[in-house]
Amino acid sequence: MAYDSNNIFARILRGEIPCDKVYEDSHVLAFRDIRPHAKVHVLLIPKGPYVSLEDFSARASEAEIVAFHRAIPKITAELGVAVTGYRAIANSGADSHQEVPHYHLHLLGGQRLGPLLSLPH
Ligand code: AMP
Repeated sequence: MAYDSNNIFARILRGEIPCDKVYEDSHVLAFRDIRPHAKVHVLLIPKGPYVSLEDFSARASEAEIVAFHRAIPKITAELGVAVTGYRAIANSGADSHQEVPHYHLHLLGGQRLGPLLSLPH
């Protein structure tokens, strides 16, 4: 799947749309989800043009991958969930119901989250 540079997270990265920023460095941006599914719900995205976890894992540089993962404990400390715990979810592709075609990791916490999945019938 080709990267669509007009997706909403690309527009946030270009500053065309505001976001509630939690963390930023040269490789990543983290901001609060606009429709939170938990008391804490933050999206971590790479600044590079990657469609999904699948795409990011295949094509991103080692520096980008390291920066992405090193950002997580900084963000979870900032959010106050590093000790209490959190769930990280990445939807990738059609079966996952990924809506925004720019790789993002959901970080959810601040409360008990319950079972991992509720599958449709
Ligand atoms: P996914 O279904 O994994 O692609 O998740 C996309 C997420 O992006 C959803 O949880 C949306 O609520 C969130 N979202 C969409 N637009 C925005 C926005 N402008 N700012 C913050 N979060 C957004």
